[in-house]
Amino acid sequence: MSTDITRRVAVLGGDARAAAEASRWLDQGVDVTVVAAEVTAAIQDLADRGLLVWVRAEVADGPDRQDDPSPAGRSEGSVTLVGGGPGDPGLLTVAGREALESADVVITDRLAPLTSLATLRPEVRIIDVSKIPGGRSTPQEEIDCLLVEHALAGRSVVRLKGGDPFVFGRGGEEVAACEAAGVPVTVIPGVTSAVAAAAAAGIPVTHRGVTQGFTVISGHVPPDHPDSTLDFAALARSGTTLVVLMGVRTLGAICAALVDAGLDANTPAAVVADATRPSQQVVRGTVSTIDQDARDVRPPAVAVIGDVAGPSLRSRSSLGTDR
Ligand code: SAH
Repeated sequence: MSTDITRRVAVLGGDARAAAEASRWLDQGVDVTVVAAEVTAAIQDLADRGLLVWVRAEVADGPDRQDDPSPAGRSEGSVTLVGGGPGDPGLLTVAGREALESADVVITDRLAPLTSLATLRPEVRIIDVSKIPGGRSTPQEEIDCLLVEHALAGRSVVRLKGGDPFVFGRGGEEVAACEAAGVPVTVIPGVTSAVAAAAAAGIPVTHRGVTQGFTVISGHVPPDHPDSTLDFAALARSGTTLVVLMGVRTLGAICAALVDAGLDANTPAAVVADATRPSQQVVRGTVSTIDQDARDVRPPAVAVIGDVAGPSLRSRSSLGTDR
């Protein structure tokens, strides 16, 4: 006989540290309720996606965490862009972890591994600048200013981002802003969701004898949008696996454009949401059906289009049997 014990915790407060604490519990499969009058964008996003419950209520003041930390004896501040990986704290690099441990200020996104922030020293200031599709968002100029201002005040600043900082992460703009202000800036690469989300679903983006490459595109705007610069005819002909980021809303239009351009309508496709998190969800179909198959999926999600996403992949390998 087994007993099903649901574990629940309440996290009091709604700031970036509370987000880290909530994320740490969620990683352990615990049901989380956040009790706070106001919450960061990351907590709101988790609540909107049904991954935790937010109860709007005042809680007694904790220690004032809003004071800027004084520079830790450094004469010159700096900025380090850290690629945090797709969300599992185990996929943050060792170098990224070390940078976090010596930071005075951490400026974070919602897709970064928030759990990694739960163990930072109490005096480290954590600022959430998440951009939520269709929701709360901090303008990029404000993020650039925060980075530069804290560094010019002599602080060691970590800009923690999801995945790799230079894959649709606006990391290049942040580096440029630091350089323009004369702030020393370094970049620690991260495990990009473009590869890791597929891998977490057991899909290799390349496979010998199946495809000799993969192409990563943004689905931020649909193919017919004036801002779209992608050549869908070329993509359809490329023979590479196609990996679409930021494409939950536009997936139907993207798949239609690929099929119109000649991609076989039976090409396998998969959508992987919340990859590497306990809430990970995988939906499989074909390029013609995946939009409908994945209609209930919410961002963040990656779509993988190509034979590697097909169920028959394992049977081609010398290793295993198919499902
Ligand atoms: N720099 C990031 C990508 C930023 S763009 C990287 O290298 O991964 C944000 C998009 O990344 C999301 O819309 C989604 O398509 C993808 N993404 C990020 N984390 C994800 C995750 N855990 N699961 C699925 N997709 C994810």
